[in-house]
Amino acid sequence: MNEELFARAKQAIPGGVNSPVRAFGSVGGTPRFLVKASGPYVYDADGNEYVDLVASWGPAILGHADPAVVTAVQDAAALGLSFGASTPSETQLAELVERRIVGAGPDGGSIRPVERLRLVSTGTEATMTAIRLARGFTGRDLFIKFAGHYHGHSDGLLAAAGSGVATLALPGSAGVPAAIAAQTLVLPYNDLDAVRTAFAERGDEIAGIIVEAAAANMGVLPPLPGFNAALAEIAHENGALLILDEVLTGFRVSAAGYWGLSTNEGPAYQPDLFTFGKIIGGGMPVAALGGRAAVMDYLAPAGPVYQAGTLSGNPVAMAAGIATLEGATAEVYAKLDATADTFSSAVSQALTAEGVAHTVQRAGNLFSFAFTSETPRDYADMQAQDTWRYPPFFHAMLDAGVSLPPSVFEAWFVTAAHDERALGRIVDALPAAARAAASA
Ligand code: PMP
Repeated sequence: MNEELFARAKQAIPGGVNSPVRAFGSVGGTPRFLVKASGPYVYDADGNEYVDLVASWGPAILGHADPAVVTAVQDAAALGLSFGASTPSETQLAELVERRIVGAGPDGGSIRPVERLRLVSTGTEATMTAIRLARGFTGRDLFIKFAGHYHGHSDGLLAAAGSGVATLALPGSAGVPAAIAAQTLVLPYNDLDAVRTAFAERGDEIAGIIVEAAAANMGVLPPLPGFNAALAEIAHENGALLILDEVLTGFRVSAAGYWGLSTNEGPAYQPDLFTFGKIIGGGMPVAALGGRAAVMDYLAPAGPVYQAGTLSGNPVAMAAGIATLEGATAEVYAKLDATADTFSSAVSQALTAEGVAHTVQRAGNLFSFAFTSETPRDYADMQAQDTWRYPPFFHAMLDAGVSLPPSVFEAWFVTAAHDERALGRIVDALPAAARAAASA
């Protein structure tokens, strides 16, 4: 059935998919066509059940089809799908986010760097708008991004991007005008000297820096301690802005995202803008950008930087986002951390037992495995691993009923619904998968 559906999809849809990584390009074989999901499981068109470690690439933090989220969506849908007008639920979601992004400031008081939030429909829109806003605010054009970081598919952000661009080993994308690509300076990750040099050379032209709060689109690769805080400092010394991209990490690794975890390293630093996605919509198309009022009020209609959307703040999507954030309590985050510990150690032990060199890559409850014995620090290191070990590992797990991300350059996602039964399936599947990786 999956083969048949894929063959038909390829006739109707380019490559048979609506987002490239889903096509199994780097692992080979036929993608599973999913028809249903519940808790930690997804079900394909043949009726097979899989323990899911993709979680819709993050949004399903409470588990698939969480009853409270589904009820909220059904209730909202019954009142009308979209009005193209203001709704109380948009403000409710914005206030929820603004209250959650709180940290300990340098003077012991608390800081809340998200004073205003603009709701959009995809992470790509959020980062694209954040960049335009930073340019409009500073009156400068250049932007710094880091190699291997993925910020969506807008023209200026595809250079040396992670996720599907990394999986397909593309340098960028066709169709991006050279003049636009030239506005993006791509620097090696975790390299502050490179950032300082770029500012020394072209500081008065640089509008800002965009960085994944913890890189998770080339596999998981956290920033070195203090890296993000130093980026904020360097940007601010030079009249530029820092955009912290928390589309993937936001509301996942802690209530206040990866920025919230940084308070473990010292006083919280102040990004000027944050971008959010995935969990903020609980599986519906929602994303957002937020930050300090002085910058955010540059957005139309308050200010001169234009951005708009027919379906922005859609009431059904708002209901899903609100119910998901309300469900993502401190207990949920504690459980996700514990589940990530258990699952990642089980995988690591199985790989070690078969003598497969690897590192466990962690950023809070996000994890992945790099097939190398050296701790990676940047994109070049991630690309230099034994990538060929992943496809046989992936397929052995899939055959045993465990669905992993179909690329070594993607993070694994746990949910609050993963339980002993799900863990049991993974543990049973691991020895054969580790053997397959070892003999690749
Ligand atoms: N930024 C980051 C860090 C992401 O991980 C992603 C998507 N995985 C995006 C932006 C783009 O989001 P979307 O796919 O919703 O456009």
